[in-house]
Amino acid sequence: MWNAAQHYAKTFKDNPLGEALFVYGTTAFPEILSSGGALPVDNFRRSKLDDPSGISGDKYNEILLQKRKGCYACPIRCKRGIALEDPKYGLDSRYGGPEYETIAALGSNLNILNLKAIAKGNEICNRYCLDTIGSGMTIAFACECFEKGIISKEDTGGLELRFGDAVFVVVAEHMIGRPAELLEYSLYGLQVRQRPSFHGWVVLVLEVPQLHKKIDVLAVHKSDTLAELLEGLTIEA
Ligand code: SF4
Repeated sequence: MWNAAQHYAKTFKDNPLGEALFVYGTTAFPEILSSGGALPVDNFRRSKLDDPSGISGDKYNEILLQKRKGCYACPIRCKRGIALEDPKYGLDSRYGGPEYETIAALGSNLNILNLKAIAKGNEICNRYCLDTIGSGMTIAFACECFEKGIISKEDTGGLELRFGDAVFVVVAEHMIGRPAELLEYSLYGLQVRQRPSFHGWVVLVLEVPQLHKKIDVLAVHKSDTLAELLEGLTIEA
């Protein structure tokens, strides 16, 4: 077994997929999926970009990548350590770099092709313990509601929710994440903290002490009942 592991570590780059995963991690996927028509764009009303180079693996490596990181003993090291000095989107490297799913949720699905802004969004969500995918999809849904007149500036406290507006998205992530009135209660043995935010949407933080470390964060609409929500919830150890 040890010999096989040593052999793999020495030869994995001979395989194009192993080499690509080492060079790009999962950040290679936005371009690949866009060319295949499977990238979430514009609240998934579209599935490809005319020019995905702004969120490509090469662009990521050029402006964000500081070092490659990985799980114990894995030679691929697909995780991204990033750094960015920037007056607008300067990053705290402790929160790590966005992977494909975050680039799609906080980027292409919101029509934002600015990796600096996406990385900042990733940092903000991680700082607040918010799931980046759920946050991005929630904001995209709210943008489409705004675009169609279902909600207006009266509902959003004056904020214009526009696809492609990186500054708005950064503000929205803060709005979702910042502590507000906090309701705490126990349900089905779970500790639930609920904070109202973002007109009509709430963020639920489920703490499961018996699993020691797991905290799950969900953004849901207030009309969803907790029972419905918990019925479909899978909690991983
Ligand atoms: S084991 Fe970890 S570092 Fe290696 S490919 Fe998988 S996620 Fe990346």
